Amino acid sequence: QAEDARVAQIPRYVRVNTALWSTDDAVSWYSSHGYTLSAPLLSERGFDKDEHIPDLLRFHPRVTFHEDECYKRGKIILQDKASCFPAVVLNPPVSEHAVVIDATAAPGNKTSHLSALMQGKGKLFAFERDRKRYQTLTRMLSKAGCKNVTPLNIDFLTIDPESEPYSAATHILLDPSCSGSGIVNRLDYLLDTEENDLQGEDDRLSKLAAFQLMMINHAMKFPRVQCIVYSTCSIHATENEHVVREALSGNPHFGMAPPEGVLSSWTRRGIPEECACPEHAQSMLRCMPGEDFTNGFFVSCFAKAAEPTAIEE
Ligand code: SAM
Repeated sequence: QAEDARVAQIPRYVRVNTALWSTDDAVSWYSSHGYTLSAPLLSERGFDKDEHIPDLLRFHPRVTFHEDECYKRGKIILQDKASCFPAVVLNPPVSEHAVVIDATAAPGNKTSHLSALMQGKGKLFAFERDRKRYQTLTRMLSKAGCKNVTPLNIDFLTIDPESEPYSAATHILLDPSCSGSGIVNRLDYLLDTEENDLQGEDDRLSKLAAFQLMMINHAMKFPRVQCIVYSTCSIHATENEHVVREALSGNPHFGMAPPEGVLSSWTRRGIPEECACPEHAQSMLRCMPGEDFTNGFFVSCFAKAAEPTAIEE
């Protein structure tokens, strides 16, 4: 019952795929196809622009888009608001020389978002180790018209960080498998989360945390990397602040990114008591289902430090 109430207040988020058209064009399209610019939670025909995420529209929770012409043609992506945070926080470069990695890509919502933010320029390598999910990823990327993405059916952990062309990566997005404990509205996450991660043994959180840490440690080995965004759709500190804490303590050449670059308009930050230093929480974002009109989510942003950073105990 309580879960239903939380789902009912989550708008139907629609990300405009700016690789194929503009947000202004999308607003005109929906305005001339039965919707009006007005509060979407008050009327089934209302829609508006999200206040935090550019190119994100909000519709009434009961509106479905699976038969929508724009959805079928890849012009809109059905993606929860919180799941749009990581690409925006990573803020990938827009340049023909850009090299960016999406380490855990399928089904590809964040990959297509990154590609759109890069305006189709440079190179975006998208790793996915699972064969079936990789096929979903390639379908998604072609439907979304992503021009600068190379999808790879390879385990990110097997990539030598010093090898060409990956050694040139300056920005890495890490959205690895997690418990999925923040998900209340499964519509957006059916494909995002692997089935077997939703069940499991008692110690699965610590196993997941060990895997998540291994992925961050690997990302931090890329010689030119400047910025790493680590995200989960979990609400457990074990998979979130604690993993960040461990990553920082093992990698003194990384620190937290300046908070003002981490979606400063979003007020719910990390949990200070769960961090190595309370101020690190300012470089993390959290979403609480039932309170933020989204599913539960966590985002953190690491930056390469000029000098090794000492962790205060
Ligand atoms: N970022 C995706 C999106 O927004 O559409 C969702 C990613 S999902 C939470 C995690 C994905 O990482 C799964 O598809 C999983 O198969 C993949 N994965 C897990 N470990 C991996 C590894 N070592 N290398 C590459 N992919 C991996």
